[in-house]
Amino acid sequence: MKLSQLKLATPYMDLDSIFFDEVEPTPLKKPFLISVSQDAAKLLGIEDDISLDENLVNIVNGSHKLKGSKTFSMCYAGHQFGYFVPRLGDGRAINLGKVNGQNLQLKGAGLTLYSRQGDGRAVLRSSIREYLMSEAMHGLGIETSRALSLIGSDTDVARSRWEKGAIVLRLSPTWVRFGTFEYFNAIGEHAKLQKLADYVIDESFPYLKGEEGVYLKMYGEIVKNTAKTVAKWQSVGFNHGVMNTDNMSIDGRTIDYGPFAFLDDYDSNYICNHTDVDGRYSFKNQPGIAHWNLQQLAVALSAIVNHDSALEVLESFGDIYEREYLAIMYKKMGLVNSFESDLELFKWMLRALGASPIDYTKFFRLFSRYNGDKTDILELVELQKPMSEWLDAYDKRLEKENLSNENRHKQMLDVNPKYILKNHILQEAIEKAQMHDFSMIEELLTVALSPFEEHSELEYLSKSAPAQSKNLKLSCSS
Ligand code: AMP
Ligand code: MG
Repeated sequence: MKLSQLKLATPYMDLDSIFFDEVEPTPLKKPFLISVSQDAAKLLGIEDDISLDENLVNIVNGSHKLKGSKTFSMCYAGHQFGYFVPRLGDGRAINLGKVNGQNLQLKGAGLTLYSRQGDGRAVLRSSIREYLMSEAMHGLGIETSRALSLIGSDTDVARSRWEKGAIVLRLSPTWVRFGTFEYFNAIGEHAKLQKLADYVIDESFPYLKGEEGVYLKMYGEIVKNTAKTVAKWQSVGFNHGVMNTDNMSIDGRTIDYGPFAFLDDYDSNYICNHTDVDGRYSFKNQPGIAHWNLQQLAVALSAIVNHDSALEVLESFGDIYEREYLAIMYKKMGLVNSFESDLELFKWMLRALGASPIDYTKFFRLFSRYNGDKTDILELVELQKPMSEWLDAYDKRLEKENLSNENRHKQMLDVNPKYILKNHILQEAIEKAQMHDFSMIEELLTVALSPFEEHSELEYLSKSAPAQSKNLKLSCSS
């Protein structure tokens, strides 16, 4: 099967026309291919090399329509930084249709009904970030939208300076957001809201169909999925940056990559988004914000889900989150047996990481080969005492494990990535791409999709940020 041969369906358009607006993409000038993810193509049932497809660039540019495709943008609302905005929508995303359980969407393909003051475009810089990060999240085993291909162009796009426009063809099993329900609740269209819920059950939770209290159960699944995804974010040190309810996927996967960042040195107070002056979306606030967003969703669903029952379900969020998070963190620590005192040892570890300070990802990778010799780890820290004392406690704890060092190391190397998309490396790749050298994008895609492998020839992509560019804040402009 070739990309050009796909036949799309548009089930979302079977909903009432209030849900979306039909819109034609506005192609970019002189489009050219930058990258494809062959791994993402498999989701569409494509085994052929899609970069050889003669229509690829035009498909991503919106100038070649796939069979069955009808193009539309979706309408939604959302709480942005805590304040309700009654009408948002896909301001620069255009849906092409659905195949193999994946909804294809072009990001940056021009103006839509929902563009407001925006230009409907996405610049190369942010498109590279979204493209690589979608694939990297997947590589880390975290639920996410995917990216099939990235194109560049000669279209000028005005930001704080002139930049070039780009488009990412992205895929997701759903593009419905918490904010989609908020829209219909705000305008009092309760029949439409129920229709949307039925659509979501069909698309994302088909196993619930026909069950009693199906909408409450749907809400329960959203709570569970969201809690688990955020637990995974916290475990790898990912800061999303813009957890507005319109950026929360209804099936709990990670979507809408903006000014995201991974922690360089461990700092739970880190805020990646430059415009987030109060730190609403700081790293440590993410679980609490996910809970707050789910509360808003419960309000939005109150016409079809008893509000008290929804809040009761929401009470499980903390437990689900904590169970998932701690299970991952204990694995990262190489602990197989479980003891009550492990929680204290874990919290102590975070304090030691913060006090050292130390690169979060590098620490766990080095730690995955720890055999009682502290030298390598202590070489990385400025302040050795907190880390050294913690390692002494860890040594004692290991006495209660039965695994050999070798087997423990093997397990730890499978959960502690060598490669994450550090901002300073992404920045290097972006600067090269702006000079038309896309080689680093291919290298980063390789490590993004298999971050637990060594890739000795690409070792430089794992280097820590230089002191002056650690834990920087990023601009939202994209
Ligand atoms: P975000 O927080 O980036 O997900 O964007 C919030 C809202 O602004 C969404 O409705 C986006 O579609 C819209 N938006 C962001 N950038 C642009 C742009 N350049 N043109 C049109 N709409 C945009
Ligand atoms: Mg968004």
